[in-house]
Amino acid sequence: QPILKINGIHKKFITEKGNEIDALSGIDMTIHENELICILGPSGCGKSTLLRIIAGLEKPSSGEVYYKDKEIKKCHKEIGMVFQQYTLLPWRNIIENVALGLEINGIDKKQRIEKAKEYLSLVGLDKFEASFPYELSGGMQQRVAIARVLANDSNILLMDEPFGALDAHTRVLLQRELLGIWRKNKKTVLFVTHSVDESIYLADKIVVMSKSPGKVKKIINVDMERP
Ligand code: ADP
Ligand code: ADP
Repeated sequence: QPILKINGIHKKFITEKGNEIDALSGIDMTIHENELICILGPSGCGKSTLLRIIAGLEKPSSGEVYYKDKEIKKCHKEIGMVFQQYTLLPWRNIIENVALGLEINGIDKKQRIEKAKEYLSLVGLDKFEASFPYELSGGMQQRVAIARVLANDSNILLMDEPFGALDAHTRVLLQRELLGIWRKNKKTVLFVTHSVDESIYLADKIVVMSKSPGKVKKIINVDMERP
């Protein structure tokens, strides 16, 4: 059954010079529970904008996003997002970073540390709980960001080129890890990328977007045995 419905999303930006940019022009999409969907398209086609609208970080010019049958605005707890840049708090150690969302949701300290540890070990970083972000490599920091979003227990994970800043080797390792986590946790994942390889490796379904203005060009079902 559908978990997300995206109906007729348009987005116009006005630049500082007063020019209008049509970033998205009529995006319709239905996303089912536990799907791993890649949104693939060239730079500037509106992938980030679409994800930010789904996350409620940006308002569409028109159109709606529904989570189950509710408007998405009322369902922020159901959605977690991982960005391309590492977004860990530098003054907090790793375990406190993972526990951040739990703290915001009012979970008591003992419980949130316990849960944070569980997710930190899921991404293989339990040994680093007392380290600080600057002591970890880029790939490790991104794993922490993924553990943080998983610990929050949101049903939908939005990932905006989360591996984009990593070297090829680390990228492949994390892609594999993400697939493993996804199989174990059964989350609905929307993954933005401009890499065809990455989308074929990860996705059940690839939404191909085209540029100027951003539109859905094609939806491809990937019916492939994955390693
Ligand atoms: P992608 O993620 O596919 O690279 P974006 O969603 O970042 O694409 O951008 C889509 C288009 O909208 C681009 O032309 C970009 O320059 C423009 N855009 C994105 N955000 C803004 C903004 N805040 N103000 C003005 N233009 C924007
Ligand atoms: P990416 O290609 O990784 O999506 P961008 O460099 O396109 O990243 O965008 C980074 C940030 O800048 C985004 O938050 C986007 O909304 C904003 N942005 C992109 N294009 C513009 C623009 N023309 N004017 C203002 N903000 C923009």
